[in-house]
Amino acid sequence: MKLSRRQVLKTVSFSALVVGLAPRVVFAAPNALRSIRTGLQPGGKTRLVIETSSRPSYTLSYGEKKLIVNLSNTNGKADAQTKLANGTLVKRITQIQDGTTLKISAELGGLIDAIDKKQIMILEPNGDNDYRLVLDFVAGTGRGIAETGTATKAAKTTKTETPKETKTKKQHIIVIDAGHGGKDPGCIGRGGTQEKTVVLSVAKKLKGKLEAEGYKTFLTRSNDTYLKLAERAEFAEKKRADLFISLHANANPSRNVKGFSVYTLSEKASDEEAQKLAESENAADKIDVNGFEQFSKDIRVALSSLQQHAVAELSEEYANGCAKSLNRASIEQQKGPAVRHAPLAVLRSTVPGALIELGHLSNKSEEKLLKSDSHQNKLVAAIVKSINSYDFDV
Ligand SMILES: [Zn+2]
Repeated sequence: MKLSRRQVLKTVSFSALVVGLAPRVVFAAPNALRSIRTGLQPGGKTRLVIETSSRPSYTLSYGEKKLIVNLSNTNGKADAQTKLANGTLVKRITQIQDGTTLKISAELGGLIDAIDKKQIMILEPNGDNDYRLVLDFVAGTGRGIAETGTATKAAKTTKTETPKETKTKKQHIIVIDAGHGGKDPGCIGRGGTQEKTVVLSVAKKLKGKLEAEGYKTFLTRSNDTYLKLAERAEFAEKKRADLFISLHANANPSRNVKGFSVYTLSEKASDEEAQKLAESENAADKIDVNGFEQFSKDIRVALSSLQQHAVAELSEEYANGCAKSLNRASIEQQKGPAVRHAPLAVLRSTVPGALIELGHLSNKSEEKLLKSDSHQNKLVAAIVKSINSYDFDV
């Protein structure tokens, strides 16, 4: 069974409680527009991203081939960086300052339906980005849209400048987590290979390659030390990471089972194998998979469903890309779905990410591969590709 994106993330870490609540304080100071951009998403979706200095409070209204995002208590910026991608439904963007409300009016190339809440997310600041209101939509028939005429009266109309290109590449932050360590060896292959050793070696190689590509990277551990699962998730929060990658290797009672799989967080496991995996990966901290739901209920309540949705969606996007990239590199995939979902404690945070089971140490030939430099390099190259093709800039 495949869970929908909305179902995927229902749990977040305790540290997320603090991080998630801090920006919710209502300030009297007005919000400020930073930038506007559009992009084309898989499936021909148009993505409109509005970046603001603090958490946006918005309503939507619609006109004839027009989408208007009303941002309350927000100041417009005539020279706000505007980047319109080719091929989206958005043809032109106009800012209209109507008292304290900033109306972002998007002229569209066709009709759309009223945008479903599930297609709207508010992302927390990360890297060089401030808050982002993200709206996804496709061409429609005008369903669910009442005539509003909101855009007719404008106090002050500022046409945005011609799109400016950003030349400098943003430096994204990646936290690489080598699973297990110290007193916790993880799984052990028939030939004695320990999971903690293999994943640390891959993590270090990955760090080197990613830094060469211009990313800022941090390892949760750089030597043979034991770290709690929550500490790893917290570390990613503290570093304000854009992406969290936890590296593991698997074991199966059946020695024939081999191949990689990629996991994202969910409250319930997507299949029996995923459930078993969560039990064994959580075992280091004695986290009971069955008690997971109650354990994190307070945190779920504290974070808005939009935030949960955003993290889950981004994690899912990354995980799918990662599985694709490993497949393309001809790395053997475990039978069944390439991307699975499980209540993995290490993934409980507001940082999008995935846990990659690189292969099976319980399989004789794969144990040999996982130990070898050349295979580790192959894995690393595929993961680097998946990160390069991940869309950080929403
Ligand atoms: Zn593991």
